[in-house]
Amino acid sequence: MTTTKHKSLAVQVGHVTMGGGSPVVVQSMTNTDTVDIEKSIQQVMALSDAGSELVRLTVNVDAAAKAIPVIKEKLLAKGYTTPLIGDFHYNGHTLLTNVPACAEALDKYRINPGNVGFGETHDKNFRQMIEVAVKYDKPVRIGVNGGSLDQTILNRRMDENGKAAKPKTATEVTIDAMIESALSSAAMAREYGMSPNKIVISVKMSHVQDVIRAYTQLSEQCDYALHVGLTEAGMGVKGAVYSTAALANLLQNGIGDTIRASLTPAPGGDRTEEVRVCQYILQALSLRQFQPSVTACPGCGRTTNTLFQEMAQDMENFFRDKLPEWKKKGYKGVEGLKIAVMGCIVNGPGESKNANIGISLPGTGENPKAPIFVDGKKTVTLEGPHMMTQFKKMVEEYVDKKFGA
Ligand code: SF4
Repeated sequence: MTTTKHKSLAVQVGHVTMGGGSPVVVQSMTNTDTVDIEKSIQQVMALSDAGSELVRLTVNVDAAAKAIPVIKEKLLAKGYTTPLIGDFHYNGHTLLTNVPACAEALDKYRINPGNVGFGETHDKNFRQMIEVAVKYDKPVRIGVNGGSLDQTILNRRMDENGKAAKPKTATEVTIDAMIESALSSAAMAREYGMSPNKIVISVKMSHVQDVIRAYTQLSEQCDYALHVGLTEAGMGVKGAVYSTAALANLLQNGIGDTIRASLTPAPGGDRTEEVRVCQYILQALSLRQFQPSVTACPGCGRTTNTLFQEMAQDMENFFRDKLPEWKKKGYKGVEGLKIAVMGCIVNGPGESKNANIGISLPGTGENPKAPIFVDGKKTVTLEGPHMMTQFKKMVEEYVDKKFGA
């Protein structure tokens, strides 16, 4: 695949800028009933606290549209300024028109051109939504989805393909139809008065190779800001890995201005997982830095106790808890801190020297001592039952000294 650097227009969503060379923005979506104002507020706060820079909420019924301005107001009163996006399907034109306070409170509208009606109704409903967005000066995402693609476009494309001398595969035709749906909708939006720098586009599909192909093709055909994601990525490790496979490929090729990982949480699971997955993807690609990283070895037959695993886990939690405090203190660049927690002498000293601070724990049969390396140099050797506490203290002192100056 050729390397593409997609040059996108900058789009302002509340106080967040996406595209135009800005850092890739992390976004997420609530799974609460929007009508349940308190639950929705709690989840927006949790997602924001986890680092979501934009949060999308379902707006599906009149009561949900009416809840939006209340949610927004209450969040602002609690100091949460995270821009809110309304997710509309089927009746967005009616809701945005009938509940102007919702149209005004939202920072962006997501419109699915496959779910706004058919034929003349489609154009009329779509126009109505765009006109509301123009009236309130809001950006929109034209969010095409493989599962709800405009069937009129798809059927026409399939018919044409059937008569072609060299027919394309069904997947190729679907991707062409998705891109046509997105770009023709964007052209219509511009006809109805929307500026190109108010338009974000997505063409999400549920298979990794399809998503990569669709966004790569799309990026060659437009300069709109792109919202990139693998739709219906699935649960747990599988969802995280599949999302990473798709997003990393695109981001590495310069495609994507905002990302979402569409993970299915386990029943009662943590919705903020999708935010952390996005952050890790961006951090792994060195596109953004969100929190100090812990380099830990996988362990092997040379580590017969769990100390280094516990220590690596403890350090991850320690950074998550400490980061807000360090940021409050104005410790600039602390997100870039690298520490190493290694299981034995084989790679321990080497990796520890490459980190800001590293500890090389003793493997099975080794002298029960753990040398510490600070900025590449061995400083002290820890031993005994309090190594974990001592190491954390050293990290804290290092951070205060290096980033607190
Ligand atoms: S550093 Fe040591 S314990 Fe860790 S994986 Fe390598 S050999 Fe095994």
